[in-house]
Amino acid sequence: MIRHFTHLSTLNYNIDSGMYPLGSCTMKYNPKVNELAARLPGFAFVHPLQPAETTQGSLLLMYQLQEMLKEISGFEGVSLQPAAGAHGELTGVLIIRAYHYAQGDTQRTRIIVPDSAHGTNPATSAMSGFDVVNVKTDANGNVDLAALRPLCDERLAGLMLTNPNTLGLFEQNILEVVEMVHEAGGLIYGDGANLNALLGIARPGDLGIDVMHFNLHKTFSTPHGGGGPGSGPVGVAGHLIDFLPGPIAQIVEEGNDEIPPLYGLSMPEQSIGRVKSFYGHFGMMVRAYTYIAMNGAEGLRSIAEHAVLNANYLLARVKDAYHLPYPRTCMHEFVVEGLWKDAPEVHALDISKRLMDYNFHPPTNYFPLIVHEALMIEPTETESKEALDAFADALLKIAEEAHTNPALLKEAPHHAPVGRLDEVKAARDLVLCCWVPEQA
Ligand SMILES: *Cc1c(COP(=O)(O)O)cnc(C)c1O
Repeated sequence: MIRHFTHLSTLNYNIDSGMYPLGSCTMKYNPKVNELAARLPGFAFVHPLQPAETTQGSLLLMYQLQEMLKEISGFEGVSLQPAAGAHGELTGVLIIRAYHYAQGDTQRTRIIVPDSAHGTNPATSAMSGFDVVNVKTDANGNVDLAALRPLCDERLAGLMLTNPNTLGLFEQNILEVVEMVHEAGGLIYGDGANLNALLGIARPGDLGIDVMHFNLHKTFSTPHGGGGPGSGPVGVAGHLIDFLPGPIAQIVEEGNDEIPPLYGLSMPEQSIGRVKSFYGHFGMMVRAYTYIAMNGAEGLRSIAEHAVLNANYLLARVKDAYHLPYPRTCMHEFVVEGLWKDAPEVHALDISKRLMDYNFHPPTNYFPLIVHEALMIEPTETESKEALDAFADALLKIAEEAHTNPALLKEAPHHAPVGRLDEVKAARDLVLCCWVPEQA
């Protein structure tokens, strides 16, 4: 039985067995010490209905994590409630709505979303009752300012910005974009799912962003994938603190030399309310806290430096073989086109499937939508130069095969437990039980 389940557990690719260059997902190494911390009985066995006097350690951890995230991001308030990135976005956009309503600004019905944005951005805006307006990307991969200007009027509630954007590029016009939107009375939502490139270098709050979510399960190394619990705290500038969802950990009685402070929970005055039962995914908070505390300020900055260095190293190694639609220095990830004019039958998907034959997880495919046959590659800071070289070698070999023996790509993967699946059918017609007892 053990052999059966151990075998099953190895059929799926995983970060502990190899590189996982899934762009925008930040599949970095998840330190095992995070797991030890989250399993400490004082954290693991605490009950959410226990009185605050008996849960001081957990409240202190939540309070300090809020403070750490504030310092990292330059925001003045943080709520740890949201359960994932998309949930943080929903929370943030509801905060924008509550802010405008509180000002009596009910005519603001539109949210601008760049055409390069993650699909959750327009989905969030629409779910919050806003009309989504697209703004296009210019030839350098930035928000097109000329296209943005006429959209900034009294109907504007806000704009959702990802920086670095999903092309892996730093938004060079960010200050102009922020100013234009603010002048029209709108707010800036920052999609902070991927802060790997910014840690210790630039703070979204300082750039003028009003509200942003973090993905603890990307930037701060808590595990994700398989639909497991994530955590998407939301940070806000001073004028939005009152609208944050609660409860929020706070000091209710200052301490002194002899007694430690007393921690408790509070609900902001004009709060949009709870967005999650109890306190959010507490176990994820313990993991992220452990990671941030272990790295310290200098460690976090070095994460950003290495994430950017690794991505640029990979890019430099492959850019003569793959077309780079926006030829700029990248941040923590980059996007190339997975097609060649002289190998017309080969598509990005074929390249990804062939990578599996070389024992690599495929990169993100067909996103962002503005790049034809996109391959979005994010190595993360935790890969060694040897791993990066092996991955670059595989990509170069595949580019050569695409021209000399395209069938190798079209028929890949050759060694995986299953071949090519009908992905639509697999999602729509899920078969969860493959064994049924024989009819008598
Ligand atoms: C991953 C991601 C999200 C959504 O986060 P989830 O935790 O998967 O809901 C949003 N925006 C960007 C840019 C992302 O990469």
